[in-house]
Amino acid sequence: MSLWHSVFEQVEPLEGITLDTGLVSQMEQRFTGMTGEKVGRVNFYTPTFKAYATSEIAGCGKSAWPAVSITGGECKLQCDHCKAKILEPMIPARSPEDLWAVVNEQIAGGAQGMLLTGGSNHRNEVEYDNYYSTIRRIKDAFPEFKIALHTALVDMDIARKMEDSGIDAAMMDVIGSQDTIQQVYHLKRGVDDFEKTLEYLVSTNMKVVPHIVIGLHYGRLLGEWNALDIIKRHKPTAVVLVVVMPFYAPEARPFITPDTAEVGRFFIDAREALPDIPLLLGCARPTGRAKAEIDSYAVMAGLNGIAHPSDGMVELAARLEREVRITPACCSIAIGDEVMAIETEDAGLQIDPQRIIELERSRRVKASGGSFGGIKVVTAGAPASGGCCS
Ligand code: SF4
Repeated sequence: MSLWHSVFEQVEPLEGITLDTGLVSQMEQRFTGMTGEKVGRVNFYTPTFKAYATSEIAGCGKSAWPAVSITGGECKLQCDHCKAKILEPMIPARSPEDLWAVVNEQIAGGAQGMLLTGGSNHRNEVEYDNYYSTIRRIKDAFPEFKIALHTALVDMDIARKMEDSGIDAAMMDVIGSQDTIQQVYHLKRGVDDFEKTLEYLVSTNMKVVPHIVIGLHYGRLLGEWNALDIIKRHKPTAVVLVVVMPFYAPEARPFITPDTAEVGRFFIDAREALPDIPLLLGCARPTGRAKAEIDSYAVMAGLNGIAHPSDGMVELAARLEREVRITPACCSIAIGDEVMAIETEDAGLQIDPQRIIELERSRRVKASGGSFGGIKVVTAGAPASGGCCS
């Protein structure tokens, strides 16, 4: 048994979780030989450590980084894994005037920034044309208010318009398989269009944070490694990995839960390919056992940011001697950090690992029932009820 596997087995909350032993020892060997600016540090975005929170947790909630859709819940593409459902809970701003009003309202409510997106047309473009002057107006009036834009596919001209309007961060999904583009997205565009979009975006001054949706091909991994090669060629500011959550897949085209060891293999390949770029695991991923397995592999592979980690992850990272930081926050703050692309090296609070382990232990004891059962001490209450993913 490898050293990492025995470390894993010491983490109490991971009892009953089984990892691929061959993969764990392979990860250990590969990680040990890795060098790179971003290798070795992990920041957990979690509301669990409220006890450590100062002002960060106070700002945590739906309003810190609201998501706004310029098409409301409408999307022409109707991809098989989403069917536009991701847009439904967002704040609609169907005209530039609405956007101006929404932003003013959100800033008054304490928002620090927003994710601006919308449904796609049949070419996987979000039609922002009428909005650029309003975005410019927002940035001129509120320069501190950060805007992350889901760009979808763009040409150079559109990328420049986005930059000129003052967008802080450009986000896009990179898809590396033609079959996935055609079958899941119903799209007549090529992998090349995704690469060109990334190329155009990184040539601007915007921070660029591409996402890879792992398991996008009906739960199977297909174009992920090609997407990684594309990203490697264009060196964005940070990369966000998410694992497909096919809640809205149509019955006729079901998604399976991605094989967690396969996801783990992809994590270590991504780490190796991008040792100098922050790699973050976003909130979206399967729940339960699969989540605990995926998160364990993410910690072992050395991802730099993990939103809403499963129980035991902080302890696992500490036992693997990583530099552990905590941002006591919900997903919306994690999105904020994606936008900022972890630009400050001191993001998160550095905490003594031993204290973290003790705190996790006492939290579990209290949460497990007995006389402490039900007492909300350091559980995820505030942000979860605030509407964050969890
Ligand atoms: S283009 Fe985006 S919003 Fe529209 S269905 Fe596909 S993933 Fe959902």
